[in-house]
Amino acid sequence: MLDKYNRKIDYLRFSITDRCNHRCLYCMPPDVKFLPDDRLLTLDEIRTLAETFSHLGIEQVRITGGEPLLREDVVDITRELAQYFSVSMTTNGVRLKELAWPLKEAGLISVNVSLNSLNEDVFFTITKGKVKPVLAGIDVAIERGLFVKLNTVVSQMNLKELPELVDFASKRGIPIRFIEMMPIGRQNRGVIFEDQILEKLSDFDLRPVQVKLGQGPAKYFVTKYGNYVGIISAMSKSFCEDCNKLRLSCDGKLYPCLGSTHYVDLLKSLRSGHHQVEQLSELIKIAIYNKPLSHQMKDSTVDNAMNRLGG
Ligand code: SAM
Ligand code: SF4
Repeated sequence: MLDKYNRKIDYLRFSITDRCNHRCLYCMPPDVKFLPDDRLLTLDEIRTLAETFSHLGIEQVRITGGEPLLREDVVDITRELAQYFSVSMTTNGVRLKELAWPLKEAGLISVNVSLNSLNEDVFFTITKGKVKPVLAGIDVAIERGLFVKLNTVVSQMNLKELPELVDFASKRGIPIRFIEMMPIGRQNRGVIFEDQILEKLSDFDLRPVQVKLGQGPAKYFVTKYGNYVGIISAMSKSFCEDCNKLRLSCDGKLYPCLGSTHYVDLLKSLRSGHHQVEQLSELIKIAIYNKPLSHQMKDSTVDNAMNRLGG
């Protein structure tokens, strides 16, 4: 379906839980309060929504969170969504070692794994978690034939490690993307901008290339060793003009943009019995119609919780 600016909306990012086993500095406050289980969309509700989104022309779904692999029914959710969409996932990778194979069997095609440092101490400082299980998860996912990409949110804490992270990805033949920190949910100070990231990687002789790996807004470069490095410049450059995304929160609120405070409440509609495809469709069309031309995140901190809405 087209929005009012004629952008084709065919991609949904879906946060299936707000819970997480990490506490990344840029994402969740240490004392974060999670939603009670009965506020999350159930598998049955997800099934109804999948059918509706598919009718409206959504073709690709990225499962995210919170940490999606913490949901016990994540494999069932993946299997359900894979009947309608091409399905990918963004994860912190902690449970990927045990789940990569069942997820692949359920129809998952690709996985983006967050990796902010290879150094145990730095990794712990940023995420409050351990790096070893994540590294094991990445290797198992590659072995199982999933398309793997790495995501690194750049901060002063890992800036000097960027070349090592590129080497790590190169050895495995997988792309790595560096993300500018966004002011979502927490007051994030000290954004490292694209120019500084590129300067840190100057030894790799990065050459811009016109490739699109997945549906994300990353701009890609190729290193002198032939590996892809992406930069997601959410803050320094606007990529809103060709945005094709909607975002569904774990409690069933559909947002037209990550930086938007407008949403339609699909969970409320589902639970009040109005779950016929036509009625849900009308609500979804309202969200699409109200998709803003661009986000306003440069001007202010957005109060949306990244974990509920799914980064
Ligand atoms: N837990 C999973 C993970 O970390 O990959 C999935 C959810 S996380 C909210 C999705 C993505 O958002 C991750 O790549 C994460 O690094 C990114 N993210 C979270 N907070 C961010 C922020 N303030 N600025 C930029 N990216 C952020
Ligand atoms: Fe958890 Fe992902 Fe947020 Fe980190 S970025 S706290 S791993 S949801």
